[in-house]
Amino acid sequence: MIDILLVNPAEKGGFFEKMPPQGLASIASFLEEHDISVKIVDFEIEEKPLEHWLSLYQPKFLGISGTTHTRFESIRIAQEAKNFNKDIIIIYGGIHATLVQPFNKQAEEFVLRDEEIEKCKETLLKAQTKAESLGLYHTFNAVMEGLERKSTIKNSNSKNREHYNSFISTYCFEPFLSLTISAEGKVSPCCMFWKDENPSVLEHTLNEIWNGSFFRDIRNRLITGDIPDICMNCPSQLRQRSENIRIELQKMGEKTANTPLALLVRFINRLRKEGLYSALRRVKEWLYIKTGKL
Ligand code: SF4
Repeated sequence: MIDILLVNPAEKGGFFEKMPPQGLASIASFLEEHDISVKIVDFEIEEKPLEHWLSLYQPKFLGISGTTHTRFESIRIAQEAKNFNKDIIIIYGGIHATLVQPFNKQAEEFVLRDEEIEKCKETLLKAQTKAESLGLYHTFNAVMEGLERKSTIKNSNSKNREHYNSFISTYCFEPFLSLTISAEGKVSPCCMFWKDENPSVLEHTLNEIWNGSFFRDIRNRLITGDIPDICMNCPSQLRQRSENIRIELQKMGEKTANTPLALLVRFINRLRKEGLYSALRRVKEWLYIKTGKL
């Protein structure tokens, strides 16, 4: 009998290259250092079913990695494990634990609730200090900022949402910059924002979708602070990207022409160097930056 069995679900589509589960290996080494017995099963290479490994090791906990490409398989594994042993405790890792929360009744026990998130802040601050002292890249500040923002928005009335009133202060830049098309043709601003209403390339052109009500509504909501639930639970890496863009835009704002006269000089210079279209675009960008409006 062991304490924890960690499993890496197989990716069924064959889209991604098979990679060793280094994340699980890292967790396992930490657990072993703390005298917790642990085994890893990588279903990318193992052929024997989950039932075999559960009978062999009889773990008290089952840890499952849930990434985008294994999210359905990981849920199936969780259900299979519960059918095999209803007392096994499942720990679900990866962004889909909280992004698609909760994916089933059993997962509710492990998804952090608002009051529990508050308690995490102290730990996050310690982790941030540690990472900085070791010179490691981290996204803890984005996580902290996301948590702060989440509670501000939840407790706010529309007046308190005034800081969400411009393009630069938007909660996220993804719907302004990118779109993602799923295998069945549905279109989303990113790889996270999936609802029944997502438009499809089988019914509309990309131009219609990009300028259509679905995308416009998300952009408006992110600018005005009426943040959709999916965005509230968005993973930190994408939110960090938005913060990086915001910082760059703010820097551009500091460097850009401060008066209409300075703008006119720059317009003429740009016109001479790169033509009318480029000069007009520059003015449009200036207006975005200066007025903060779309
Ligand atoms: S906040 Fe996250 S889910 Fe929402 S649009 Fe941005 S990347 Fe997508």
